[in-house]
Amino acid sequence: MRLYILQLWAISLFAVAHSFATEKEQPYIDFIDAQVTVTPDFNSKSVTGKVIYTFKVSAAISSFFVDAQQMNITKVVLDDKTTSFEYDDKKLTVNATLQPDTNHRLQIEYSTTPKKTLYFVHDYQGRDQIWTQGQGKYTSNWLPSFDDMNEKVTFDLSVIYKKGYEVIANGVLKETKTVNDSLQQWNYDMTQPMSSYLVALAIGKYDKVVETSKDGIPLETYFYPEDKDKYEYTYKHNKEIFDFLVTEIGVEYPWQNYKQVPVKDFLYAGMENTTATIFSDAFVVDKIAYNDRNYINVNAHELAHQWFGDLVTETEGTHHWLQEGFATYYALLAEQKIFGQDYFLYKLYESAEQLTALSQSEGATSLLDPKASSLTFYQRGAWTLFALQKLIGEANFKITIHNYLKKHSFENVTTADFFVIAQEVSGTDLSEFKKKWLENIAFPSQEALDILTQYDFIKNYLALAGERTQPLAGKWGTLVKALEFPVNDYLGQEAVYQLSGDTSQEAIALYDKAFETNNLFVRQAIASSLSSVPTSLKEQYETLLEDESYATIEPALYHLWANFTGDRAKYLEATKDITGFNDKNIRILWLVLTLSTPEYNKAQHPKYFEELVSYTAPEFHFTTRQNAFAYLESMNAFTDKVLLNLVNGATHYNWRFRDSCRKILDKLLQSETYQKKYVDLKVKLSQSELEYLKRKMDL
Ligand SMILES: [Zn+2]
Repeated sequence: MRLYILQLWAISLFAVAHSFATEKEQPYIDFIDAQVTVTPDFNSKSVTGKVIYTFKVSAAISSFFVDAQQMNITKVVLDDKTTSFEYDDKKLTVNATLQPDTNHRLQIEYSTTPKKTLYFVHDYQGRDQIWTQGQGKYTSNWLPSFDDMNEKVTFDLSVIYKKGYEVIANGVLKETKTVNDSLQQWNYDMTQPMSSYLVALAIGKYDKVVETSKDGIPLETYFYPEDKDKYEYTYKHNKEIFDFLVTEIGVEYPWQNYKQVPVKDFLYAGMENTTATIFSDAFVVDKIAYNDRNYINVNAHELAHQWFGDLVTETEGTHHWLQEGFATYYALLAEQKIFGQDYFLYKLYESAEQLTALSQSEGATSLLDPKASSLTFYQRGAWTLFALQKLIGEANFKITIHNYLKKHSFENVTTADFFVIAQEVSGTDLSEFKKKWLENIAFPSQEALDILTQYDFIKNYLALAGERTQPLAGKWGTLVKALEFPVNDYLGQEAVYQLSGDTSQEAIALYDKAFETNNLFVRQAIASSLSSVPTSLKEQYETLLEDESYATIEPALYHLWANFTGDRAKYLEATKDITGFNDKNIRILWLVLTLSTPEYNKAQHPKYFEELVSYTAPEFHFTTRQNAFAYLESMNAFTDKVLLNLVNGATHYNWRFRDSCRKILDKLLQSETYQKKYVDLKVKLSQSELEYLKRKMDL
């Protein structure tokens, strides 16, 4: 899984709280395969289903269980006989005496309205979209299965849904069958076992493109039919990443095919379900957005998990870095292939800085703490692999990875399993290394720096960064050099940031030079850091509005509008057709600025205000809604529609969005005016919205 928030640069330090058993919960029973048939119903957000497990018993048992959260269990059949069972809303227990070395068959029929794990959303066109998120949420919320990751099963899913939709699940689509005039059945087949949290389902309106990897693996990439023009940049380098990782990891891709499906309002950046990655459609990008927020990293990260996580799976949370650290490291290697070595090193430098800061805070943990932060699991995990590769050498590292994956294929693993092999292959005593990188709470910052400074780029970067506290006069020549052709993205940006908005003659000369680099990232640094624009730079600053970067255009538009009041209409006219990212960053800013510019299109202002309000509605991506709410709050413009959409947002399943809405709502409810308004509006609220509001005020 890749947390969205990392991609957006803001590092979140919340712990991934898992508690998993260290051994198989049911050691004498092995579930082999599962034939699943499910029928989701969009209107009632429920699912009815049947699952048939075959299993082996290795020692006499008198009972066994399957995890099933808050289901209505209608029938249980053991070896062709309907059987009684106990059910406590969490575990379905069958009391039966079973002999050693026997095979059995268990059939469970059920229906349920899952509170989580299976999500029913309307897409942007109001069509059905249904998808799962198993990790951290438990697949047993919609399918009787195993919360224990150590129980690996070959899951074959059959899904019955409306004709005209696409159904994507784990494995290969064997056939589709007509059920009746309106329903169809999709039969998927898996040939290898996996943990239950990797079982997945996605239903929606999609088109797809199928490429074939160098090794003949079908790569199916899905997209909304209306996003045809975004296909190219969303899945840019897709096949290249796949072929690269197969070669780099040195073990053939373990599954039958690989599918990727974007969905709306996803909880994370992406999820590595076996053969079927589901990812946030915030990564569906056009040519310009590709420069700022592309899918490359998440694409490579989830793909790397198909080996690290799906093929070999941690036994418990202590070893979570075996999944996230490895996926992060291999994604970075794939990015290096595409964006170059400076990119790779800069990312490592950046994460070393963050890990050093974390080390000095209360949240510091070792890498083997199951409650470690995601920064630790992902970035310290990746650093550990980079450092290990440096220590034992590239060849030994590759052999270690190969042997580790081969030895433990389709099994569960611990950190010791990996290091036993690394030690064997390299003939090196790794106990000191393990202490430093895995067991100690402090991140080994000095060791990380020693590795990084073997590279000229990092040496040059650190020399420049060392000038930060110098007055401009003392470092002018150094900054000029950093902005000289051919400018390095990172050195150029650093030089601009060191000017920190200074508008002296000396600084202006440097900004002049920075503009002329024509480097997208250097110019982006100007747009975001030079907020009071001197008249002598006005003309150049205006050219930022034409850069191929929505992250540049947004602050540039705002700063120009704020600095040159006489030209506001001109700037608004120049940007009136730009939407920006999927959160509509430019369009929403444009609407807000236009509403504050009486001389520009005054007659249209009511229409523009309506448009701004409309972006708070559920049919838009939650980041668009979040953006619109934030601006409307700053304008103190809470119309009835906004108030209703705000409560709707406060009950959303996506906690980041939900919390931002709740914060605004809590503030509003301190005023009697808004309390009264909500009393008037209560007939328009849904049951769950009403219940939420009742907990906050008298209704
Ligand atoms: Zn991950």
